[in-house]
Amino acid sequence: MDHERKVLFVSSECAPYAKTGGLADVVAALPKTLRMMGHDARIVIPLYSSIDRTRYGIRFDRSCCVHMGRGEEQWVGIYFAILDKQVPVWFVDCERFFGRPGIYHESWGEYGDNAFRFALLSKAAMQICKDLNFIPDVMHVHDWPTSLACVFLKTWDKILSPLSNTASVLTIHNIGYQGVYHPGAFSYFGIGEEHWNPAEFEDHGKINLLKPGIHFSDALTTVSPTHRDELLSPLGGQGLAPMLHDRQADLFGILNGVDYEHWDPEHDPLIPAKYCRRDMQGKVVCKEALQRRFGLEVRGDVPIFGIVSRFAQQKGFDLLHDVLPRALNGMMLQVVVLGSGDKHTEDFFQDLARRYSGRVGVHMGYNDEVSHWIEAGSDFFLMPSIYEPCGLNQMYSLKYGTLPIVRATGGLNDTVENYDEGSGRGTGFKFWDISADALYYTVGWANSTWWDRPQHILSMRKEAMSREFRWEASAHEYVKVYEHAIRKRRGD
Ligand code: ADP
Repeated sequence: MDHERKVLFVSSECAPYAKTGGLADVVAALPKTLRMMGHDARIVIPLYSSIDRTRYGIRFDRSCCVHMGRGEEQWVGIYFAILDKQVPVWFVDCERFFGRPGIYHESWGEYGDNAFRFALLSKAAMQICKDLNFIPDVMHVHDWPTSLACVFLKTWDKILSPLSNTASVLTIHNIGYQGVYHPGAFSYFGIGEEHWNPAEFEDHGKINLLKPGIHFSDALTTVSPTHRDELLSPLGGQGLAPMLHDRQADLFGILNGVDYEHWDPEHDPLIPAKYCRRDMQGKVVCKEALQRRFGLEVRGDVPIFGIVSRFAQQKGFDLLHDVLPRALNGMMLQVVVLGSGDKHTEDFFQDLARRYSGRVGVHMGYNDEVSHWIEAGSDFFLMPSIYEPCGLNQMYSLKYGTLPIVRATGGLNDTVENYDEGSGRGTGFKFWDISADALYYTVGWANSTWWDRPQHILSMRKEAMSREFRWEASAHEYVKVYEHAIRKRRGD
């Protein structure tokens, strides 16, 4: 039997309050599951001005003074709410740093003071622990924004001494974002000059905020077993592979789970009709509704290829720019797209929808309901990511019987089983090379399977819908990592 542990999540995002991607889902779901297992998990995030205090019942609790470098004392407001009737959440209110609508940036660009903003958040989390007398066994931090907490725990001063036994675990959700900023922020952290070196903070004359997390944390995780190994390769480590090599005994790959309360076609209130493995009729209704909503020809016989994504280079859009026009010219298929981001990609899809009117539908923006409609109404789901630490959408797709077409990277590799034409087994279609041709042939392979071997599509769907990635399984793995970190911290 595991010990009951106190775990504090410190993060820049947590769904539904503030979310740009999968990180927010993890920070909401994992503490919930840990609490169900008997652990005392809580969360600290910033109170961005975009968070609706009334809607979420967020109320003022107290003020607290955070001691930063240069002798600066920053007073912040601590607000409180309960997430999903289960998890206590503290919000750090600081007009100067968080009184803005964006998390990291706005449409005009990135905030120039991010290093200051998230240093304050990390230190405020410590102060909350002390002032509210919640002394965690583990502080679980996420990506570069809160990686500094690992440093503060190891270089603690008198003020933070109650935390001298608290272990830190850093989860790397996306190594593509490392928090590289002007070195002028360093003195604000209040950490000795001896830490300004390439092994800890310095990155070619700038501050790299992820580095100290890798150096100082007691354990590290990333969000799939395959991505753990990728991080240790020169390409996958994105400049940090040597540091990660030094820590590989403490580096673990744990797959993210799925919140099936929100992502199950049998109970999903957002989709036009519900369905399950035993009765797939609802999926036919969802497909027709999706075609109408996106102005596509209503044809049950033509397969729909869905996309829901941030429009970022990481997601393989360069390949899609090349492949989609070719596929639309040469194959009978339809495409629906939901997303926003990179302007070039937005323009590309708008143009594609004009050129292939009735066969390509596009919704620019972020829309939860539309994302559920696409998962339910599509036949295939495209994720040709260049790298994908875990990926959630392919796991949702499996549950909705929408077969993923993925590049075999990171979590995509770990969650999708490639189609075997001989036996008809598998849950999706994989390719390996980062090349437009590889994607093109795989789209063609899926499409020809649809037309020529429909019985395989039906059996793959059933198989896919039975694959589950429950948070309970992942949470057990995290608890093992927490115990590893606690042992390291206490020098056992
Ligand atoms: P990443 O975190 O790299 O963006 P993931 O697949 O891990 O990718 O998580 C993406 C999450 O964001 C999923 O929950 C997905 O449904 C959601 N999402 C992405 N883009 C949109 C969008 N335009 N509208 C609605 N949800 C979106």
